[in-house]
Amino acid sequence: MLQIGCHLSIANGYMSIAKETISIGGNTFQFFSRNPRGTRIKEVDEADINQFHTYAQEHGISVILAHAPYTLNAAAKEEGLRKLAVETITEDLRRMEYLPGNLYNFHPGSHVKQGVEAGTAYICEMLNQVLKPEQTTTVLLETMAGKGSEIGRSFEELRAIIDQVELQEKIGVCMDTCHIWDGGYDIREHLDEVLEEFDQVIGLNRLKAIHLNDSMNGLGSHKDRHAKIGEGEIGEDALVAVVNHPKLCHLPFYLETPNDLAGYTKEIALLKKRYIENK
Ligand code: FE
Ligand code: FE
Ligand code: ZN
Repeated sequence: MLQIGCHLSIANGYMSIAKETISIGGNTFQFFSRNPRGTRIKEVDEADINQFHTYAQEHGISVILAHAPYTLNAAAKEEGLRKLAVETITEDLRRMEYLPGNLYNFHPGSHVKQGVEAGTAYICEMLNQVLKPEQTTTVLLETMAGKGSEIGRSFEELRAIIDQVELQEKIGVCMDTCHIWDGGYDIREHLDEVLEEFDQVIGLNRLKAIHLNDSMNGLGSHKDRHAKIGEGEIGEDALVAVVNHPKLCHLPFYLETPNDLAGYTKEIALLKKRYIENK
């Protein structure tokens, strides 16, 4: 069965986001671990989490994905910003353990003018501080579009991070289709080759989730402007091929397309309709 959902607000708790997900035809969801523009966070509501746990089992919601605030920069030159990333992610991962076995995605960071290597070293330093042997959450590096000085614009840049992580089994990758397209990976015409390259450089066993987005811009544009499914440069057929690809079809897919709930309902219905069961 296709595991599909979209990015929703968790402002009203897990039960609320779960019901919203079911109402739009989804069976998984992504949410910001906290307000992306700030770092304020509400206390853990254990009653809500317990209710959600039961509801999720009854409704077939399996793995869910938390997204770290995109304003964090673990690769920053300023020590204070790096410290903020460590503290925020440590606290988020502590809270994730209330719902064991899920996923936590973050943007590796921007090196600004320090160079990729210096930025990468800081990201790894952060990961080696926050990852704990006892955690059940898998932390995902997101593939980036390469806007500005973003690290993670190529599979090699992600591999360089993974190589320096001590707790290897806690780290994975989330592939964003808009981002890799903008990064220069032609998933419209050469999906098999792109996945082959991913496998050789990173290993498909590391791939744990997909952000399914069309792109407003051309291949290699490094712009990061998401489009609705079928309304961008990648196109509906190529994105349907992604969800149906034998190497990807078992993964959870998260829409981050510019939509309201009605728009997400339509996109989820379309993808479910075009998903081929029992390949
Ligand atoms: Fe993201
Ligand atoms: Fe994304
Ligand atoms: Zn994006």
